[in-house]
Amino acid sequence: MSKNLSILSAKVKESLSQSIEELKQFCRIPSISAQNNSIGEAVQFLQEKITSIGGSVRVLDEVTGGFPVLYVHFEPGEKGNSNKTLLFYNHYDVQPPEPLHEWESDPFDVTERDGKLFARGIADNKGDLMARLTAIELLQKQDGGLPCHIKFLLEGEEEIGSPNLPYYLEKYSDLFKADACIWEHADRDEKNRVNLMAGVKGMAYFELTVETADMDLHSKTGPLAENAAWRLTHALASMKNSKHEILVKGFYDHILPPTEIELNYVKKMPFDEESFRENYGLKHPLITNYSGQDPREAYILNPTMTICGIQSGYYGDGSKTVLPKKALAKLDCRLVPGQDPEHIHQVISDHLHKHGFSDVSVKLLSGVKAYRSDLSDPFVSLMVRTAEVVYKCDVVLSPNNAGTGPMTDFGHNLKLPIVSTGVGWAQSKLHAPNESIRITDYEEGILHIAHVLNEFGK
Ligand SMILES: [Zn+2]
Repeated sequence: MSKNLSILSAKVKESLSQSIEELKQFCRIPSISAQNNSIGEAVQFLQEKITSIGGSVRVLDEVTGGFPVLYVHFEPGEKGNSNKTLLFYNHYDVQPPEPLHEWESDPFDVTERDGKLFARGIADNKGDLMARLTAIELLQKQDGGLPCHIKFLLEGEEEIGSPNLPYYLEKYSDLFKADACIWEHADRDEKNRVNLMAGVKGMAYFELTVETADMDLHSKTGPLAENAAWRLTHALASMKNSKHEILVKGFYDHILPPTEIELNYVKKMPFDEESFRENYGLKHPLITNYSGQDPREAYILNPTMTICGIQSGYYGDGSKTVLPKKALAKLDCRLVPGQDPEHIHQVISDHLHKHGFSDVSVKLLSGVKAYRSDLSDPFVSLMVRTAEVVYKCDVVLSPNNAGTGPMTDFGHNLKLPIVSTGVGWAQSKLHAPNESIRITDYEEGILHIAHVLNEFGK
């Protein structure tokens, strides 16, 4: 650790108890977006905190029925780099705390046990937000002040799916313009490795339905009448074979092949097949056994087609001899860069027509494209390098999350590299009872952000 970093580290230690005190105040505000609870109070808390440490706040509140987006700006100090801007994305809303009886302490009164702080929203993501503000507060006091322009986009609708985020990002793309972005949060894994993520997969979510009669029939009509459940399962079976190859023509069109640097990061990711199978109690070998593909590559880089549910006919106790009139399936496709949800919709419709299933309707319920940061951008290696120095442990960068999230709206509107980092741990229990962070992770998280900012401003 360099001398400057040691000094910074000592300052973080000094300010830790005050920072935790403020984090406790923030967590006491039950800003539950799903219940339209205490949103104004959370906004006011942030406005006061941010202005008290020299930032300016503009409240963007122009969508009727929506919760405000805050635009936050800190000017660089006298020795800071005014040509560089780092943007943070965080949210001030939290999930509902229910089921309350499973909490060991009040979800809205931060409790300390065994070096951990427990409260709703502390890991997702009030802890991260306060760690970042504390880092900025410390850097304000260093010789020369803040090392660059710092902006935040703070929203209050993340836990209800960020319905108005695309609107604000599109309309205010100039305001939020930056050179790079740090995403809301991330967790250490069960082996305490620090995880960074630089993208997300996209998603196309479909509902497939077929109707073969006006009413459910007696199953004695089986020799004569078409059965909706069989129609749908045949239609589904035509789209993917037993080796898990997707057979829809055009599904893999336009996929951008991974770059060498993306592949290198994926190859360095840890993956323990045995514990993965054990964790989920998998009763079959991994499906990558058919293709021989490296499971890490498949997990991060492959698009998917998943039947999420099928409904038809009778599934109660005992037997009921019925020939169902209707069948319905929900299908999600996780998409990778280059794929477009509308195009996936089109090729699935075409496939069904061509294979004699014109009566199976396919509706696109929601769609979002994938996003992957340019991993050759120096910001990405800066994030990895600074994390290795501060955390002194293995740092794993994944080119994208295997899941989906609002990072896509940011990436496509603002066109910048995005990397997530944060103060969570393997047992943070996001969205669940007894959500927590570890105080040591919080302390190191403050230091990491301060260090990133100083390096970024150089
Ligand atoms: Zn979150």
